Amino acid sequence: MSRQATLGSRDVALPPACDVAVVGGGVMGLATAYHIAQSSRLRVVVLERSYLVSGASGRNGGGVRMQWGDEGNVRIMMESIEICRGLAQELGINLWFRQGGYLFIARTEAGESRLRRNAELHRAIGAPTRLLSGEEAREIVPDLDIDQVRLAAFNAEDGVVFPWPFVWGYAGQAIRKGVIVRTHTAAIAAEPERDGLRLRLSTGESLYAGIVVNASGAWSHDLNRSLGIELPNRPHRHEILSTEPLKPCLDPLVVDLQSGLYFSQSTRGEIVAGITMPGSHDTGTHVDQRSSLQFLAHLGATLVSLVPRFGSLKVLRQWAGPYDVSPDGEAIVGPSPGVPALLQVCGFTGHGFMMAPAVGRLLAQFIVHQERHPMLARWDPGRFAAGTSAKREDMIIG
Ligand SMILES: Cc1cc2nc3c(=O)[nH]c(=O)nc-3n(C[C@H](O)[C@H](O)[C@H](O)COP(=O)(O)OP(=O)(O)OC[C@H]3O[C@@H](n4cnc5c(N)ncnc54)[C@H](O)[C@@H]3O)c2cc1C
Repeated sequence: MSRQATLGSRDVALPPACDVAVVGGGVMGLATAYHIAQSSRLRVVVLERSYLVSGASGRNGGGVRMQWGDEGNVRIMMESIEICRGLAQELGINLWFRQGGYLFIARTEAGESRLRRNAELHRAIGAPTRLLSGEEAREIVPDLDIDQVRLAAFNAEDGVVFPWPFVWGYAGQAIRKGVIVRTHTAAIAAEPERDGLRLRLSTGESLYAGIVVNASGAWSHDLNRSLGIELPNRPHRHEILSTEPLKPCLDPLVVDLQSGLYFSQSTRGEIVAGITMPGSHDTGTHVDQRSSLQFLAHLGATLVSLVPRFGSLKVLRQWAGPYDVSPDGEAIVGPSPGVPALLQVCGFTGHGFMMAPAVGRLLAQFIVHQERHPMLARWDPGRFAAGTSAKREDMIIG
């Protein structure tokens, strides 16, 4: 694949009109564009204001898991993992998808009962989650200090991917199927025109689209506000780091329920780790991507208390990205209240990357065939105004 075929281009010409304009070239926007192009002849344009992995999709930990606490989320992720198995071949790019499992550890009674309840749900649905004692967990992660571990849950089908080729793979195949991916071009405003919307672009151009998909994640307010749409999702800063490489020593991604610490080993050997920071990280609608010393200190202390051997590791890189957080922890997907030509696909907190393979396909089905999957109905953007929003998930990390 040529460079332009995977990265999009700032020079590609835009048509005056298209059927679907996707605003945001992150994993959600590109997966949706790819599936629309695969299943229809609709003319699709993706607009990305910067380069393709500049948003959360290029800054995340690449964790992919079916261990959730809500049946709908478990099922969506079983579907996503099933898609991931064949996705490298489908997209023609190495995604570095490694199914080393996810190991959740509980150090409190409350954490233990969450894991027990979830394992029962997973068993009923057919997700192969096993409960383990501390000693059994140490057989999977030999360096783990298990003194404080009351219970662990392991699912061998969970895993990690390398996020960048994932995004480039969707872009490359979408472009091959005729999608225009224009980078360094922001949609700065939208206004109603006929049955669709006209987008005003940062380049001075404009584009008419029958349907606009707002896939701009933590930045989605900007476009929404130009149409008078107010949704309650807010960007929260989330930090992460990677260390110098080690010989392979860690198969699963490990999550400590109590602290919100998670760590895995990348295929290149680096330990990649993040943690829930105490206090609020709500930054209004401003996206804050600064790194902090507090994060480094808090993560270091927690990680070393669980894996003392990592105490001598050198940190090579530290960065931050936005979680796009909705008040009920649920995604926001579907027609916008009062503006049906604007579809939202945002609010995915810390799990949008893993859900994108399934959600991109489901949203494309909705756009092309008007088929609405029950999860899309549940994630309806109108639920906040209607007062029907509900918290269902207790396994959101970060
Ligand atoms: C540190 C960190 C770790 C994470 N770890 C995981 C994990 O392990 N597993 C997981 O599943 N998820 C994880 N996530 C969450 C995941 O990264 C996101 O949920 C997912 O990438 C969201 O994808 P998106 O396409 O909606 O948003 P983004 O990737 O943010 O894409 C939105 C794009 O829109 C562009 N844009 C914004 N405004 C405009 C505009 N006006 N016009 C045109 N373009 C615009 C932006 O430049 C951006 O590229 C993590 C997130 C962070 C920050």
